[in-house]
Amino acid sequence: MIEIGNLRVTLARAGVYWWDGGAFFGVVPKTLWNPLLPADEQNRVPAALNCYVVESGGQRILIETGCGERHDVKSRERMKLPEGSGRVPVDPGSIDIVVNSHLHWDHCGGNTVDGSKMVGGPDEVLPAFPKARYFAQRGEWEHAQLRLSRDGVSYRDVNYASLIAAGKMTLLDGDASVAPDVEMVVTPGHNRDMCVVLARSKGETFCFWSDLIPTAAHVHPTWVAAFDLYPLTTIENKARLLEQAVRDGWWCGFAHDPNVAFARIGKDNKGRFTIDEQAS
Ligand SMILES: [Zn+2]
Repeated sequence: MIEIGNLRVTLARAGVYWWDGGAFFGVVPKTLWNPLLPADEQNRVPAALNCYVVESGGQRILIETGCGERHDVKSRERMKLPEGSGRVPVDPGSIDIVVNSHLHWDHCGGNTVDGSKMVGGPDEVLPAFPKARYFAQRGEWEHAQLRLSRDGVSYRDVNYASLIAAGKMTLLDGDASVAPDVEMVVTPGHNRDMCVVLARSKGETFCFWSDLIPTAAHVHPTWVAAFDLYPLTTIENKARLLEQAVRDGWWCGFAHDPNVAFARIGKDNKGRFTIDEQAS
């Protein structure tokens, strides 16, 4: 937990899934990344489902909702994701605002839950956070609707369609504040409309990097995941925002780091970005 100005930020990890290390580190040789995030016998690395709760002026804002619980036995095995894991460990009724940095299944899979099924009737899909207003980018939703061959598999309507239909999810057209101290900032690279989330109070900042910098090991601008749609843009945006994070002493949260909850970024004498200070 960290406190910045009037805000309190807490990590709420929805679990850990294991994903191919080569996919996570792209062109970076395994000899360099493996010491930082050791792979298992099938070359999978642990990817945490890091969600964060920002408490601001009596409101509780949840950033991301994990991967949820709708996974069959086969995919749970493939990801080493234990049964019953995937749900955000918070009181669902206590959340006022939910922010989805983008709509990939591992960031918004806990948005909804299945209600009681009526015999012969349609499955009922309910908001997992009953009193919350949900926010995502319209461009991201439009992209998800296209189900393109490269990344269509990352999207599942059940995670957001009923929320949009019920008017519970607001689709934003670009950068926007979702609460007085919390802003979504569109930061392309991983895909076109992914957002980083900035919480600011009294000159201090917490930055949730989402998949722009999925783990602390990705703090080098050129360490880009193979699944990023626009890797050169990722490099550009990382370099720019990491400079700002160093200069302004941001506390940072990584979407998938299994070990680091909060970190401040520094620079060594060769100009490389480093993880300087950590909090749990
Ligand atoms: Zn993603």
